[in-house]
Amino acid sequence: CGIAGVFGDKDAANLVYLALYALQHRGQEGAGIACSDRRSLRVEKGLGLVADIFKRSILERLSGDIAIGHNRYSTAGENHLKNTQPIVADINLGSVALVHNGNIVNADVLRNELVSDGAIFTSTSDSEIIIHLMAKSNEKNIIDAISKSVQRLKGAFSLIFMTENMMIGLRDPFGFRPLILGRIRSSHVLVSETCALDLIDGEFIREIEPGEMIIITDEGIVSYYPFEKVEIHPCIFEFIYFARPDSRIFNRDVYEIRKAFGRKLAEESPVDADIVIPVPDSGIVATLGYSEYSGIPYEMGLIRNHYVGRTFIEPAQSIRHFGVKLKLNPVKSVIAGKRIVVVDDSIVRGTTSRKIVKMLKEAGAKEVHMRISSPPTKFPCFYGIDTPTRSELIASTHTIEEIRKYITADSLAYLSLEGMLDCVENSSFCHACFSGAYPTLHKDGNGYNPKS
Ligand code: 5GP
Ligand code: SF4
Ligand code: MG
Repeated sequence: CGIAGVFGDKDAANLVYLALYALQHRGQEGAGIACSDRRSLRVEKGLGLVADIFKRSILERLSGDIAIGHNRYSTAGENHLKNTQPIVADINLGSVALVHNGNIVNADVLRNELVSDGAIFTSTSDSEIIIHLMAKSNEKNIIDAISKSVQRLKGAFSLIFMTENMMIGLRDPFGFRPLILGRIRSSHVLVSETCALDLIDGEFIREIEPGEMIIITDEGIVSYYPFEKVEIHPCIFEFIYFARPDSRIFNRDVYEIRKAFGRKLAEESPVDADIVIPVPDSGIVATLGYSEYSGIPYEMGLIRNHYVGRTFIEPAQSIRHFGVKLKLNPVKSVIAGKRIVVVDDSIVRGTTSRKIVKMLKEAGAKEVHMRISSPPTKFPCFYGIDTPTRSELIASTHTIEEIRKYITADSLAYLSLEGMLDCVENSSFCHACFSGAYPTLHKDGNGYNPKS
C-alpha cells in the first residue's frame, strides 16, 4: 500500500491527494483520504484509482489542515469498500483515523481474542485490529494507547494516525516498509516514498527509523521508541520491484540499486546475444545495468500499453492471464532475427515470462534468454507483498531447468541471493521470499505461524 499524511497546511487534503497520485503504483484497488478541521474528522474513500475516486467536489468536502490517505493493495482481507482506508473511529479517547502499509502476521490471534472479548469488526482487514486494541486499552491518552497497542502487533506496519489535532507516524521495529518525513512550507509530511514528496515540492527531512514513533502537533515533533530494539529487516523487494525507481528509501536510491542488480546479473550470467530488452516497466532499470556491464546494446523490444494497470495487482487470476497481451506488444523490426536477452524483475507464477517468450519467438526472435534480476521467488511474503501461496509459486515446486522448459526460453538465469545482497551492501534486509528466512515467523507442519 501507499500512505501519506500532511499536518498543518490548509491544502492538506489536496496535498495528500497528490501524494497518493505519486504512490499509485503501491496500490490500485482503492484509496481514501481523511481530514481534520480541528473539530471533527471526515473521510472519503472509494474503489479504483486515486484520480477516479477524488473529483473536485469530493476533495472540497475535505476541509481542514490535517489529512492522511491510503492506496490499497490487498494482502489481507478482500477487495471491498469496507476494507479501504483510512479507518476512522470514535473511541473513548476521541476520534482517530489510521492508514497502514504492511501486514500484521498475528492478526488471527489478536482478532479472535478481541472478538471473544466482544469487539465487533466492520471489515476483514488486519488493520482494524489496531483501532480495537486502542479502544480497549486503559491508557489515559492517545499516544500511550497507540504505543501499547502496536507493541502487541507482529509483522510489518508503517502507520500514520490522525486525531483532530495530531498526526502520528510509526514504523515496526524491523522496518519492513518505508516511511519518510518531509516538509512543505511550514507543514510536516509523511509519505511511503520520496517520489511523493517530489510531486508536492516537499523537502526531504529524514526517514522514520524502524521502531520509531513520531508525534506531530502544533508544538512540533517528538519521537518515541515504544519497541524493544531488534535487528532491522527492511524489505529488499522494494528495491527489486515495488518502489518507484525515482524514490530514495532505506537510505538508498532505488534506481542505483536496481541498476546494480542488473550489472550483477550480467556478471553472474552472461550470454552471447545481439540485444538486451526489458520487460517494461519493472525490468527497465535492471536492463540498463545488464547492458552497461555486458556491452550488449539496449533496445525497447516490448512496448507497454500504459493504460493498463500492473497485472499482478489485479486479484483475479482470469484477468491476469489476459493482462499480459493487453499490456505488452513486441516491436517486430527490433526483434526479428536477433538473439535476445530479456530482463524482468521476478517470476511469480511464470505465466508472464511464458507469454513473453512466445510473443518474441512469434515476432521472429532467433534465441530468447531470460534473465531475472532477483533470486527465485520460492516463499510467500507475510509482510505486505501479495505473493501467492507456495503451490502457485513456480520456483517453489520447479527447478530452474524445469522453469526454463515451461517458459520455453533458450536459457534462464536468476540473480543469486549473495549477488543481490552484495548490491545493497548489507545482509540484514528481509529476503524471506527468496530464502525462507522469515524475520518474525517460523515454519511448522501446518504452515507458518507467528513466533511467540
Ligand atoms: P508471473 O506471470 O510470473 O506470475 O508474474 C511475474 C510478473 O509480475 C513480473 O513481471 C513482475 O514484474 C510482476 N509483479 C507484479 N507485482 C508483483 C509482486 O507483488 N510480486 C512479484 N514477485 N512480482 C510482481
Ligand atoms: Fe519483502 Fe520478500 Fe521480505 Fe516480503 S518476504 S518483506 S517481499 S523481502
Ligand atoms: Mg513486470
